[in-house]
Amino acid sequence: ESNDLIEQLKHELKSRGYEEEIQVVKTGCFGFCEKGPIIKILPEDVFYIEVKPSDAKEIVEEHIVKGRRVERLLYEEPNIQKRLEEQHDIPFYKKQIRIALRNCGLINPEDIREYIAVDGYLALGKALTEMKQEEVIKLVKDSGLRGRGGGGFSTGYKWELTYNNKNDLKFIICNADEGDPGAFMDRSILEGDPHSVLEAMAIGAYAIGAEKGYVYIRAEYPLAIHRLKIAIEQARKYGFLGEGVFGTKFNFDIELKYGAGAFVCGEETALLNSIEGGRGEPNAKPPFPAESGLWNRPTCVNNVETFANVPPILLNGPEWFNKIGTEKSRGTKVFALAGKVNNVGLIEVPMGIKMREVIFDIGGGIRDGKKFKAVQTGGPSGGCIPEELLDTAIDFESLKEIGSMMGSGGMIVMDEDDCMVNIAKFYLEFTEEESCGKCTPCRIGNRRLHEILIKITEGKGTKEDLEDLKRLGEMIKISSLCGLGQSSPNPVLSTLKYFYNEYEQHVFNKH
Ligand code: SF4
Repeated sequence: ESNDLIEQLKHELKSRGYEEEIQVVKTGCFGFCEKGPIIKILPEDVFYIEVKPSDAKEIVEEHIVKGRRVERLLYEEPNIQKRLEEQHDIPFYKKQIRIALRNCGLINPEDIREYIAVDGYLALGKALTEMKQEEVIKLVKDSGLRGRGGGGFSTGYKWELTYNNKNDLKFIICNADEGDPGAFMDRSILEGDPHSVLEAMAIGAYAIGAEKGYVYIRAEYPLAIHRLKIAIEQARKYGFLGEGVFGTKFNFDIELKYGAGAFVCGEETALLNSIEGGRGEPNAKPPFPAESGLWNRPTCVNNVETFANVPPILLNGPEWFNKIGTEKSRGTKVFALAGKVNNVGLIEVPMGIKMREVIFDIGGGIRDGKKFKAVQTGGPSGGCIPEELLDTAIDFESLKEIGSMMGSGGMIVMDEDDCMVNIAKFYLEFTEEESCGKCTPCRIGNRRLHEILIKITEGKGTKEDLEDLKRLGEMIKISSLCGLGQSSPNPVLSTLKYFYNEYEQHVFNKH
């Protein structure tokens, strides 16, 4: 439908002789998926929602020719008296701060000149011509940026570890193997602003002393791959990649590697094995990739969103970044807000924002006037958070404390109709399927957990099964080899903790 709309708009503009004067630009995601397709008209900043190809004629006739807003396509919030039209006035965007998503929906991702026009590649120029490697690392460390892929490890410290491991060959890798069900943060960044990731990879490569980078991206992301390919070609043409980047002695180039969709390949050592052509299985750590990674060379792996934060941090300084978020979790986090919420979409919020604000202010509350029951963060290995904890701040530590985790940014809202035991079973089915099978606690333990959950939801469970779930879940967490197994029981353990009565109903009422 969006493609038809673009064609219709072009046709209407052309038929009135505006084709030279007014450009129709295909951008990345605006984030407000619930109200798409979206058109934003600049420079007036007018934001039209749910636009159909058949609306193109009216938009051109009314807005472009006569200079009048098309009222029926403007955003209208039922609880707000005044009509809203500018993006920053819309409740969905009001509490958001867009750093990683700063250019998504703003620039044409297939035209490097548009990225350059919004200060693109300026941070790389600054790093290469004004800063020593150690200075770049210190700046990123001082910013407090932590890995957005789930681990929350200090990015600057990771760069420092790789820098300190002297070797004539090092690698930098962008982990774009986004695998959580319902998550599309990294895909949207790559589709909407691929150069921001390439620029950050070049900055990181310079800092750690690497000349080669890989983007490991799942093959199911054809548009992101298409735009990355275009962006790499354009960056080479403009001298931002290749030999003598920015006219300096620094050489750096990037290659794409495709993942086949195994969830565990998002784990960095499994990802490295996959790039090397081996089985996508995690290795025990240490050694960490910073010491011995790709082909046993020092390697730095960061995820897409982490990289997208780097250029503005370099340009604006660590103090600027420090002002956003909490003391231990600086900056923002991108979430894919999904489930039973009114405004499904992609959001970027300051760390420390309350879960309640995200679901009710940004998300617009629960669909069909139903009652909120739980929100699940952290993807298939995250925990389910009940209503009494909705005022928890969203940051790495607070989410962990209540039995969930930040993860890479999935956020799924459930309402009064959802059975939490079924939800736990759904996630266990996923992790059982995605376990690589290398270690016993995860391979067998998750299968047993899943079997017990099936038994309970069929009304055949016993009180002992509930005890087994808890004991087994805790054992899997402490004895599994990688993050997948270490976090896979979270949906079971958190629902046992906060929704025990629902398990009891299945067991004692036999349904
Ligand atoms: Fe594989 Fe699971 Fe063990 Fe990780 S915890 S290595 S996914 S079996």
